[in-house]
Amino acid sequence: MTAGSAPPTRWPTIAKDISSFPVRPNLVDYEATCAAFSWDEARRGLSGLPGGRGVNIAHEAVDRHAAGEHAGREALRFIRADGTTRSLSFAELAGQSNRFAGVLRRLGIGRGERVFSLIGRSPALYVAVLGTLKNASVFCPLFSAFGPEPVRQRLQLGTGRALVTTRALYRKKIAQSRGLLPELQYVLLSDADGDPEPGCLDLAALMREASPDQEIAATRAEDMALLHFTSGTTGTPKGAIHVHDAVTAHYATGSFALDLHPEDVYWCTADPGWVTGTSYGVIAPLAHGVTTIVDEEEMDADRWYRILDEQRVTVWYTAPTALRMLMKAGTERAEGHDLSALRFVASVGEPLNPEVVVWGREAFGQPVHDNWWQTETGGIMISNYASTEIRPGSMGRPLPGVEAALVARDEHGAPLVRDGNAELVTEPDAVGELALRPGWPSMFRGYLNEEERYRRCFVGGWYLTGDLAKRDADGYYWFVGRGDDVIKSSGHLIGPFEVESSLMEHEAVAEAGVIGIPDPVAGEVVKAFVELRPGWEPSEAMRLEIIGFARKRLGPAVAPRLLDFTAALPKTRSGKILRRLLKARELGLPEGDTSTIEAAPATPLSKEQ
Ligand code: AMP
Repeated sequence: MTAGSAPPTRWPTIAKDISSFPVRPNLVDYEATCAAFSWDEARRGLSGLPGGRGVNIAHEAVDRHAAGEHAGREALRFIRADGTTRSLSFAELAGQSNRFAGVLRRLGIGRGERVFSLIGRSPALYVAVLGTLKNASVFCPLFSAFGPEPVRQRLQLGTGRALVTTRALYRKKIAQSRGLLPELQYVLLSDADGDPEPGCLDLAALMREASPDQEIAATRAEDMALLHFTSGTTGTPKGAIHVHDAVTAHYATGSFALDLHPEDVYWCTADPGWVTGTSYGVIAPLAHGVTTIVDEEEMDADRWYRILDEQRVTVWYTAPTALRMLMKAGTERAEGHDLSALRFVASVGEPLNPEVVVWGREAFGQPVHDNWWQTETGGIMISNYASTEIRPGSMGRPLPGVEAALVARDEHGAPLVRDGNAELVTEPDAVGELALRPGWPSMFRGYLNEEERYRRCFVGGWYLTGDLAKRDADGYYWFVGRGDDVIKSSGHLIGPFEVESSLMEHEAVAEAGVIGIPDPVAGEVVKAFVELRPGWEPSEAMRLEIIGFARKRLGPAVAPRLLDFTAALPKTRSGKILRRLLKARELGLPEGDTSTIEAAPATPLSKEQ
């Protein structure tokens, strides 16, 4: 294992003076809080189902507030396209989610069965998540920018029995593959307006008929609650299983990493189709009883500054791509907006450039607090805290209750294990694979129906994250890169295999290799290298045709943006495409050990424009 270079010194540390803060941070003394923390103690901050009937995320998020003095407090404030708002109080959200649970009961959807969503940020989404959990069923969100292929595949892998969506999304992404989804019994349209599509149900009508008084089904801490699909380097998407006890981590991390206080107005910009949208778009803020802003529209610089200003947002959780877009749009867009209510800004999902951390002070009057986690961890694992100094470019330090380490890797990238124990990198600023000690409540409990794949994530007593990182002498973690070929584009994890498989369904494509290449705004963009079948010739028309084909199937967020033709893809002797080599050649980086390669030309046949 080679030692990395010292952490960048270009960006001075941002010190904190908590005496000037409008509210005292929940975490003031990092070391002391870590030393005193236990998950059992954290569980005491939650209430559990009445009558000792177990733990249910929806009870912690909604019903315990609805039953108390905060029943009338605004839980969710939705901002429509025209800027007008509508709100749901905790009591109303409790009633609505009860009705949804009642709808599921009436349809015969039971414990452990999967309810999917393919829907934007709308009241139906929140009601569906919470109602599904109240029914002891399992909620699985899908990304609405997915094309029909990824949607069908995930519904099949997760055996979705019900799906909540809109008319337009149903027509565009599901109707044509409905025949391939015999298990999908019910499609509930949130906007059917009395006239559902053939084969679908009118959710609003069913909700009206259901009672707002339902008892939450008894669920145990270890019962499956959420299913989140994520992508690996190879194979099908993986369904990460999370349990009801995850709410303990959502609550604790909402407190320490997001510094939520009951009087906060909180805004999480994550798409509801990804894990952040559930863990920190729905569960953590509701569990804290704060008011959550939900913008029903997509990102727009002026709109976002207006929301921060007019809604008096105090805590904001967003993502590097969005912040880079705001920075590109120019700090003057923030001028004239009163962002004085904002007291904490956090970001997640991809590497956050140090310049963005610092620029936050110019635009929002607050530095940006980077934090790190992934679908499998279910909640924030490493973070910069409101009270602690920021080292721009660093993801921060592990949460109380989280033990992180760096595992040494051999020259092939495999973890080093000796006598059953993982070999740890202890030297400051040296690179290793970021690993976590299993045992935190929101850790995934399996990949659905893929026991072996799950097992392979654990080595010598550690969960291996697939990310490479460094740790400085003071325990701050610095992201180095992915240890595998997975692509992060605009915060979305994309499995190259899924893209390659889809490209190969085009009649002219013999083989495809897909990589991520750096992009100043999206972090990475997807690039494909395509080998054509005999009889087909590379041309600009063919390039556009294949990109269009992929976009239609995979959706614009997943399909390649760039495409080169190549005479032969570099492969190992066993036939595996060497994406790393494609990337090295594309970026003009050293090619490393190429002794296992089957001969292949280094130059593409034609370059994309
Ligand atoms: P996902 O499972 O889709 O949430 O993606 C998780 C992956 O996103 C991580 O394994 C990292 O590769 C990346 N990621 C998340 N947060 C950060 C961060 N703060 N800095 C760098 N990469 C991050």
